Amino acid sequence: MVDQLSPELRELKQRMKSFVNETIIPREPELMREDASSDAAMNELKQAAKSAGLWALGHPEEIGGGGLPFMDFVYLNEVIGRSHWGSRAVGSLSMQDSIMLHLYASEEQRSRFLNPLVAGDAYPSVGLTEPEVAGSDPTQMQATAVLDGDEWVINGHKWFTSGANQAAFTTVFAITEPDSEKHAKFSSIIVPTDTPGYEIVRVVPTMGHTGGNHCEVNYNDVRVPYENLLGDRGQGFHIAQKRLGPGRIFHCMRWLGQAQRAFELMCERAKSRYAHGSYLAEKGDIQAMIAESAAEIQAARLMTLDAARAIDAGGEARTEISLIKFWGARMLHNVVDRAIQVHGALGVTGDTPLEFMYREARYARLYDGPDEVHRMVVARKLVRDPYDGVPWA
Ligand SMILES: Cc1cc2nc3c(=O)[nH]c(=O)nc-3n(C[C@H](O)[C@H](O)[C@H](O)COP(=O)(O)OP(=O)(O)OC[C@H]3O[C@@H](n4cnc5c(N)ncnc54)[C@H](O)[C@@H]3O)c2cc1C
Repeated sequence: MVDQLSPELRELKQRMKSFVNETIIPREPELMREDASSDAAMNELKQAAKSAGLWALGHPEEIGGGGLPFMDFVYLNEVIGRSHWGSRAVGSLSMQDSIMLHLYASEEQRSRFLNPLVAGDAYPSVGLTEPEVAGSDPTQMQATAVLDGDEWVINGHKWFTSGANQAAFTTVFAITEPDSEKHAKFSSIIVPTDTPGYEIVRVVPTMGHTGGNHCEVNYNDVRVPYENLLGDRGQGFHIAQKRLGPGRIFHCMRWLGQAQRAFELMCERAKSRYAHGSYLAEKGDIQAMIAESAAEIQAARLMTLDAARAIDAGGEARTEISLIKFWGARMLHNVVDRAIQVHGALGVTGDTPLEFMYREARYARLYDGPDEVHRMVVARKLVRDPYDGVPWA
């Protein structure tokens, strides 16, 4: 792709890439431990990012961020994503939550919940998915919030509330308007995680991973003030959508960073591993893996940038977002899978980042809507009219 970045952005992107490669990636073995020593390593990295002028660059200036335009941040996010811990270390982990709060939070909510996020003093979490009903059809959510005087009383059972065990609060989605049509039943309410009745049942073990942060949470008569309502009553779906749109762009750009790193590892290994009379890089099968991966990465990159531009222009870009969500997740999965194959047994050990990336790539095909749901969204729309709302018409 012809490089269309301004010289300033190109320089910033290079600086960020160096920071990720030289400062964050060497600390990954510590960060992966998920104990007190990993917290200490992360705190040091946050300080280093602040000192290097790389902190929270995509957040608006008025809430303490760097005020980088959305598209500039999208480009930057690819190199931040080279490390799984990159977003957290440079104050960009909570971008979609801060966008949501920036759009809907009251003044009091901003100072209490948004400002600490941007400063890196607190983490957010979001509670939609419930084990009893299909998360891919969130109209089925059963959690309720009932007004009692000037307090919401929340009851429900959520799981996969990522990061709840480290978060200062969860934005929970619950039925407040049971008689409304199915998309207007839900509201979003901010619940500090130290509220009585907010009970983390467990961190759900995932794919051989006993640490992690995907939490099962019970809400047992959790009481919060009426003012913790985010946005208007019945607006929960709309608010979730506003969060998910840019959030999916950020995920896809991070996946590109991961895929690009896996691709580089694959090429390095292919050049140095010798078998059956030649280096792996000289074998047709391996060359096909490298070429297919390069094509898939570049296709996903261009599709993601295109979707980001559509959002930046003020559109919802539903079709473009759904396309990149399932295409980008599959691309990541394919590229990491091939990189593992080229590494042989080494690829499934913890001695390279690939096995960790593979788990994350597998999750990517589920969270923020499984592949099939995004394909359904695209197909339903385009089968009616192949040019419906898409800019390439
Ligand atoms: C790593 C990770 C992090 C997550 N973080 C969060 C979080 O922070 N907060 C939160 O609320 N949730 C979170 N989730 C939950 C996630 O959003 C749900 O897993 C997702 O919405 C799917 O819901 P479900 O798991 O209930 O699957 P189900 O809805 O039960 O779907 C199961 C499968 O059915 C198939 N399917 C569903 N609908 C269709 C269809 N229309 N056509 C064809 N096939 C279909 C798909 O293959 C799908 O995978 C996370 C999940 C993961 C894996």
